[in-house]
Amino acid sequence: MAGMAPPTRQDTRKFIENLTGTGKSIAVLTSGGDAQGMNAAVRAVVRMGIYVGAKVYFIHEGYQGMVDGGANIKEATWESVSSMLQVGGTVIGSARCKEFRTHEGRLKAALNLVQRGITNLCVIGGDGSLTGANLFREEWSGLLEELQQQGLIDEVAASSNSELHIVGMVGSIDNDFCGTDMTIGTDSALHRIIEVVDAIMTTAQSHQRTFVLEVMGRHCGYLALVSALACGADWVFIPEMPPEDGWEDSMCQKLSENRDYKKRLNIIIVAEGAIDSHNKSITADYIKDLVVRCLGFDTRVTILGHVQRGGTPSAFDRILASRMGVEAVLALLEASANTPACVVSLVGNQAVRLPLMECVQMTQEVQKAMDEKKFDEAVRLRGGSFENNLSTYRLLSYRKSDSEIPNSSFNVAVMNVGAPAAGMNAAVRSAVRVGITEGHKMFAVNDGFEGFYKGQIKEIKWGDVGGWTGQGGSLLGTKRTLPAKHLDKIAEQMRIHNITALLVIGGFETCDRIKQSASGTKRRVFIIETMGGYCGYLASVGGLAAGADAVYIYEEPFDIRDLQSNVEHLTQKMKTSIQRGLVLRNESCNENFTTDFIYQLYSEEGRGVFDCRKNVLGHMQQGGAPSPFDRNFGTKIAAKAMQWITKTLKDSYKGGKVFANSEETACLLGMRRRAMVFQPVSQLRDETDFVHRIPKEQWWLKLRPLMKILAKYKTSYDVSDSGQLEHVSRVRPKATDAI
Ligand code: ADP
Repeated sequence: MAGMAPPTRQDTRKFIENLTGTGKSIAVLTSGGDAQGMNAAVRAVVRMGIYVGAKVYFIHEGYQGMVDGGANIKEATWESVSSMLQVGGTVIGSARCKEFRTHEGRLKAALNLVQRGITNLCVIGGDGSLTGANLFREEWSGLLEELQQQGLIDEVAASSNSELHIVGMVGSIDNDFCGTDMTIGTDSALHRIIEVVDAIMTTAQSHQRTFVLEVMGRHCGYLALVSALACGADWVFIPEMPPEDGWEDSMCQKLSENRDYKKRLNIIIVAEGAIDSHNKSITADYIKDLVVRCLGFDTRVTILGHVQRGGTPSAFDRILASRMGVEAVLALLEASANTPACVVSLVGNQAVRLPLMECVQMTQEVQKAMDEKKFDEAVRLRGGSFENNLSTYRLLSYRKSDSEIPNSSFNVAVMNVGAPAAGMNAAVRSAVRVGITEGHKMFAVNDGFEGFYKGQIKEIKWGDVGGWTGQGGSLLGTKRTLPAKHLDKIAEQMRIHNITALLVIGGFETCDRIKQSASGTKRRVFIIETMGGYCGYLASVGGLAAGADAVYIYEEPFDIRDLQSNVEHLTQKMKTSIQRGLVLRNESCNENFTTDFIYQLYSEEGRGVFDCRKNVLGHMQQGGAPSPFDRNFGTKIAAKAMQWITKTLKDSYKGGKVFANSEETACLLGMRRRAMVFQPVSQLRDETDFVHRIPKEQWWLKLRPLMKILAKYKTSYDVSDSGQLEHVSRVRPKATDAI
């Protein structure tokens, strides 16, 4: 694989090559409740640690293993974390440990670390585990003094281990930690919930049933809220938003209204910790009895329980955890005596470092605010992303009565273009409903620009998009036809229907659908072709999620020497205990180095050492039900786009007409680093490679070195973006910018 440009002398960028872990020992442990993706984090810490020349240790069974020592603390090897990426739970074990809460327990733990020269600790767990870690660090010098006084360690040991560096990663399915948009495990838990909801939907539909679904979240309503958004639930109960008194009547009224709109089923989602405004818990059974009593609907309760912790981690969690693991090692390498313990977290698509104690304190403040019934405050403290979920849910779940809806007298059309992608229907549903709520008359265009010029356009109502969130493909229909040749006819259609704004939804890529099942086979290399046109995002990010050995993409040119070195790399790998290989090739990465060519090259060169299988994923990548991430993302991005359209229409409305001739009236909405940004399409012209239909700069290219490092390649890695310790309040985008 071609490497990145090597660092030059005048360069101010910071590169991994200049950081070394030689002589350092890093220990990694998982603690508290398990979460899918913890293994990916452990794997990344181990491999990155070894890559930079450090010694890495596993601590089995969480803090218990650290207190007990012995065989619980064991040196890790590169191979020991092979095949871990796709496994749920935590392979190195987790536990709750009473002893670590005591001074004596922590003293024993300190001795075990000093005896092995471990002064870098990577803790993966919830806020409890991280609080414990912070305490341990604060006590460290005191603990060493005590050990020395007791004669258990000598002065040399005390001085050479005098600094303990700690970095935390939040593993928790509840997403209950302040300072990060997502915690490791949350997305996988959402997958489990949505699988169950999708399964229930078909049976509920057949029998016109109401389902009350209880999901985890004793203190945090994130899982419930996002599941409700992702499946278009009728009602959701979360601890942060107790319903007003008299909610029983409003809920029943809404359920029966929804049935009147021809909805054959109702879904109500309740977080474990849901309460009313008097702090009384609202249980699934209570809701069921209420619905049966008031409405006589056939109602069933499903409690998901530990299913939510189970199963394989999603692609999102694997990538998140891998990025965090690498970042954690960097943080440890750069830590000094004065750096406080930190957590690595995700804001937008950026990995950042935050002081651990600030995050823990903020998380505790949320609970305090809830205890004091300051619910608005609690929601605000949870951060922009949570607030945004809540406001989007409120906007979409409840159709205002006609008298509450303003009449904007604008007609807005929605259409899909390009290849169908999971999440498109969720986006259309959201756009239509938000548009109606804002008082517009909404129109749907079928079959993209082709349908548009042919006049396939008609009004679309609130009820028409019911149940669309969970559907794959594009229900409006989409074509790749470009509008250029038919602009006159399109303009005519816009005149006929008096369309004042157009929302175009297309060009999404989904990252969750690449799966591979290579484990169990011996000495085999899988060569997989992925879609994406000239865009190597799916291949690269899929490669990171699946632990690929090589990923060929158009954006990073490669030649025969790269192919040769990749084959040699795999031949070497087969000599170790890991005897599987995975190679991804983006469909348009190179005209001549086709998937068949690469397959044949690897087969020939690997003869006698490994054999090859090839697989072209093709349209399977666009099929299937959309993931929770795509549903949620589609929903929120479209709601935001529609709100922007309303504002822009109002701003450009003069004398009964809309004047939309400035550049700012045609924008693309997308995620840029930490926030959602509307960018004028005219500016995009300079940033776009039209021939290959990709942006000239792709943010995710920065993730490629990670994949290479984790696959044991020496590579250059620009780490200038990381390193700054930030503060919780500063990193948060405003609710209006968050997604
Ligand atoms: P989580 O990390 O998932 O929030 P817990 O709160 O149960 O889970 O914490 C896991 C473990 O972390 C505890 O069993 C204990 O060993 C340690 N721990 C938690 N809080 C503290 C604390 N205040 N001081 C020391 N250790 C703690």
